[in-house]
Amino acid sequence: MLDDPFVDGFARGACSAEAVGVRDAALRELIGEKKLDAASPVEQAVREAKALGLALAQPRFYVAMHAAHAEGAQVTVGAQIFESPLLAQAMRPAEQAAALLVTVGRPLAERVTALADEKNVLAAYLLDAVGSVLVEELADLVQGDVAAYAARHGLFVGYRYSPGYCDWDIREQAKLFALLDAGSLEVRLPPSMLMDPRKSISAVFPLGRDARAIAAPSCFGCAVRDCKNRRTEPYSPPLR
Ligand code: SF4
Repeated sequence: MLDDPFVDGFARGACSAEAVGVRDAALRELIGEKKLDAASPVEQAVREAKALGLALAQPRFYVAMHAAHAEGAQVTVGAQIFESPLLAQAMRPAEQAAALLVTVGRPLAERVTALADEKNVLAAYLLDAVGSVLVEELADLVQGDVAAYAARHGLFVGYRYSPGYCDWDIREQAKLFALLDAGSLEVRLPPSMLMDPRKSISAVFPLGRDARAIAAPSCFGCAVRDCKNRRTEPYSPPLR
């Protein structure tokens, strides 16, 4: 899917929604709904939401490689300096970082809004969930491709981190956007720092030569014991 981002320092492109896919297990986990009888109205609505999401999604990605260095609670990625102790911990073994932006585009988000306006709450909720699964799958897909190219350069990839999560202030999204060509993906960053369209993910992830150290999630050193997002395993790229 990706041209080698290590050659020019970045890669951007588009792919079909079918190539990304909506993993049924991920969707069921998100909506908290086990598979029901195929004839049930909810099951029909899930099928319709998946089909509509795949028809409306316009997956696009941008990923850029930068030199990275972490010291104390600060992380330097390219020309930007981020402040986050947990991000700094994850980036300590890194010699490079990838800045990533993926989106499934505007039509899907607009249809969710239209369905909600029509008070079609179930359809809006399910389509929104399909968009969430699609954009996560797209981020995994691009990160997995970067991991494959990284391996050819003797580098390993760790978990991705986004502003607004853990101890990383969402206002740092503006610095991350300075490393991304968001305009080419038609993703905007309003003053709220919540991306438009909403089904977009911006993140950084570390690349380094020590496979074990780079794969360790910042959760291993985090004091938030009851966090529901806690990662308990080292990162391993998704298999496709
Ligand atoms: S345990 Fe939770 S808060 Fe701590 S680093 Fe992991 S995801 Fe972030």
